[in-house]
Amino acid sequence: MSHVFPRHTKASTPVAVGGDGCYIIDSNGKKYFDGSGGAAVSCLGHSDPDVTAAIKGQVDHIAFAHTGFFTSEPAEQLADLLIEHAPGKLDRVYFVSGGSEAMEAALKLARQYFLEKGETSRHRVIARRQSYHGNTLGALATGGNQWRREPFAPLMIETSHISPCYEYRGRADDETAVEYGQRVANELETEIQRLGAENVMAFVAEPVVGATAGAVTPVEGYFKRIREICDHYGILLILDEVMCGMGRTGSLFACEQDDIAPDILAIAKGLGAGYQPIGAMLCTSEIYEAIENGSGFFQHGHTYIGHPTACAASLAVLKKLTGGLVDQVHPLGDKLDATLREAFGQHPHVGDIRGRGLFRGIEIVEDRESKTPFDTKRGVNKALKKAAFEAGLICYPMGGTIDGVKGDHILLAPPFIMEDQHISEITDKLQTAFKAVF
Ligand code: PLP
Repeated sequence: MSHVFPRHTKASTPVAVGGDGCYIIDSNGKKYFDGSGGAAVSCLGHSDPDVTAAIKGQVDHIAFAHTGFFTSEPAEQLADLLIEHAPGKLDRVYFVSGGSEAMEAALKLARQYFLEKGETSRHRVIARRQSYHGNTLGALATGGNQWRREPFAPLMIETSHISPCYEYRGRADDETAVEYGQRVANELETEIQRLGAENVMAFVAEPVVGATAGAVTPVEGYFKRIREICDHYGILLILDEVMCGMGRTGSLFACEQDDIAPDILAIAKGLGAGYQPIGAMLCTSEIYEAIENGSGFFQHGHTYIGHPTACAASLAVLKKLTGGLVDQVHPLGDKLDATLREAFGQHPHVGDIRGRGLFRGIEIVEDRESKTPFDTKRGVNKALKKAAFEAGLICYPMGGTIDGVKGDHILLAPPFIMEDQHISEITDKLQTAFKAVF
């Protein structure tokens, strides 16, 4: 009997014993194409020799030194490289061990920034109904899935949730996409006015919504209007690129494609590509200087922040991403999109195919015309996940409440190292799964 506390106590999962490029191999020798990089993590696949060499090299020197006493060469170099490529005025990097930690740090930094400035009443966070920001309490409170928050409601910080930018379900027939984007962005202003701007510290959003909704992209102009509103009311814009960042959508940072920059940015997943657990929070020099010229101490921290081995792995990953690998994401993503549309575009249970780069979502519906989702009791996303897994494809199906509507979707986030033939492998295996379920 296993003594591991598993993710799902009633499921039995195979034992992963090997990685080979885009594939994971289990203890029975079965190979799975990692079509979702786990949860949009493994952007370099599973056997990158440069990343493993960087890890070994760092461990040979020193595996860990606490940041209360030391910085490290890989942390310094990684921060330099990130900032060289970061959008807007992002200037400082705070390393953590994952996405939730990055979001938690972002929320606390926002609060402390306003405290340092003497704006003590600013504490309220506004987020969107369709989003996932992590499972620690602060991050969970900002996430949009009510079913995730509900059991822990008494522990939550108070957060307002406005509409997402979800064109497939939200845009009215008589509206253009741009008009729709402005309408939903303006909900932020309405909520700020309702709460009183002097009480609001931040607006939080994923530029492309991942796990909760299946690669939902914003419409043109939406984030520009969001940025404008934040600036007008002196509110910080925190972007969560934990899933959609690090080249996943075709640019190193997803928000570049919306031509905006945040005040605070959270990244993780692709930052370490799964070779080491690492995340980061980036902030502007203005925020950093408020701390530096104020208390001089960000009241936060974890034992493993700036872990040298994690930073060494991430540095090797980032050199690859910025050394040309991200340039492959758009062309490969366009081909994947076209192939998915050809295979599933007319499927009676496919409502929408969407995404950017190698971040693609398929929304499953019972009825295409009315966009009616399946009853959640039917467990369509779980059945698809299981059937795809049996066919040797890892994809990331999720269900739950998508902006108030129960729904199912599949998220694809394959490795950037994949080749053209892998696109048909994904589609073929997914078709096998669809045939098994519908
Ligand atoms: N933010 C987003 C957008 C995510 O997708 C996730 C994880 O899926 C997180 C935050 C939390 O990251 P982690 O699971 O590394 O704590």
